[in-house]
Amino acid sequence: MNWETVARQVSIRTYTTLKAGGNAEFFAIARTSDDLKRIAEGCQANGIQLTPIGTGSNILPSDHGVPGMVVVNLTSNLTFDTDGTITADAGVGFQELYLQAAQRGLGGLEFAVGIPGTIGGALVSNAGAYRSEISEFLTKLEITFDGKTQWVDPSWMQFSYRDSILRKPEPANAVIQRVMLHLNPREPKHIYDDGREYQRQRISKQPPSASAGSFFKNVISEELSQTIEGLTDGMRKNRVVPAGFLIEACGLKGFRIGGAMIGERHANFILNVAGATATELRSLSHHAKQEVLAKFNVEIEEEVLYLGDWSKFEPIPA
Ligand SMILES: Cc1cc2nc3c(=O)[nH]c(=O)nc-3n(C[C@H](O)[C@H](O)[C@H](O)COP(=O)(O)OP(=O)(O)OC[C@H]3O[C@@H](n4cnc5c(N)ncnc54)[C@H](O)[C@@H]3O)c2cc1C
Repeated sequence: MNWETVARQVSIRTYTTLKAGGNAEFFAIARTSDDLKRIAEGCQANGIQLTPIGTGSNILPSDHGVPGMVVVNLTSNLTFDTDGTITADAGVGFQELYLQAAQRGLGGLEFAVGIPGTIGGALVSNAGAYRSEISEFLTKLEITFDGKTQWVDPSWMQFSYRDSILRKPEPANAVIQRVMLHLNPREPKHIYDDGREYQRQRISKQPPSASAGSFFKNVISEELSQTIEGLTDGMRKNRVVPAGFLIEACGLKGFRIGGAMIGERHANFILNVAGATATELRSLSHHAKQEVLAKFNVEIEEEVLYLGDWSKFEPIPA
C-alpha cells in the first residue's frame, strides 16, 4: 500500500446519502481493482481495520468517527461475455449494470432501477425490491480476506433476506473485489418498460430528502402477518409485515429528533431534513424501535449499517 495516497481524519459525511457521521481515521480512494487489492491486503497484513464503502447509501457512521481505514470503492471495470456472463468490479454502480445489461438484451435486474449503490454494497445486504434480489444472479465472487484474494462460490456469502455474512462482525475486513453474474436474454422493450414502471412506483413512494432508503427490514412473521389488521392479502400470503406499516401505526410519521425526521410519505424512511447528526438519526431509529416493541411486541431490525465507534451512544430522549 502506498501510504502517501492515504489521508488522515477525513470527514466521510459527504460520502453517505444520509449526510451524517464523523471522520475516517485513515481514508483512501480505490479507482482500480489493483488499488483495492493493495489497500485490502496492506490493511489486513498490518492489522488495520478496513471498511470499504460504495456510495454510502446504506450506512450511518458514528459522529465519533470510524477507526482504521475507510476506502471508497470507485472501481468500474465491466465486461459482458456472449453467453450472458458478466464480470464486474465491485465498485460498478447497480444502475449502470442494469443499463448496460438492458442495452445488450439481458434482463433480470429491472428491480434495481432506483436503488443507488455499488454491486459490492448491494451484495453485502442482498439488495432487492419487487420480489427479486441481487443474490439470484450471482455465480462467483472474488474476495480478499486474511491477506489473500480468491474466487469463491455464492454460498460463501450465506445470503438471506437483506443479509449476508459480510453484515456480521466476522470475517472482519473482508472485501468484495469482483463478481460474476448471469443474466438471461429478454426483449429490451420489456426490460425498459418494467424498469420505468418500478421507477414510477418509487418516485410516488420515496421522500426526496437525504436518507438511506428503508431504515428497517420488513418483519417476516406467520403469526403477526395473520393477526394484524390492515395488511393486504399479498402481504398475508407472503407473511410480510412492512416495517413502515408498524412505524406508521405508532403515529410516528413526521416525528422529529433534532434534524432527523420519520418520513411523512413513507414511515420506514428516516430523513436528514436539517443537518442532523448521526446521534440524532440513531436516536430517532431507537425511538421508532421502542414504540413498535411497546405496541406490537416485535423487534424491528435495522437494514442500515451503523459504522464506527458507537460505544458512547446515548439515545437523545424523544
Ligand atoms: C433512496 C434509496 C433507495 C433505496 N432502495 C433500496 C431498495 O429498494 N432495496 C435495497 O435493498 N436497498 C435500497 N437502498 C439501500 C442501498 O442503496 C443498498 O443497500 C445499496 O446496495 C448499498 O450500496 P452502497 O454501495 O451504497 O453500499 P454502502 O452503503 O457504501 O455500504 C454498505 C455496506 O457494504 C459494505 N461494503 C460496500 N462495498 C463493499 C465491498 N466491496 N466489499 C465488502 N463490503 C463492502 C460497507 O462496508 C457497508 O457495511 C436504498 C437507498 C436509498 C438511499
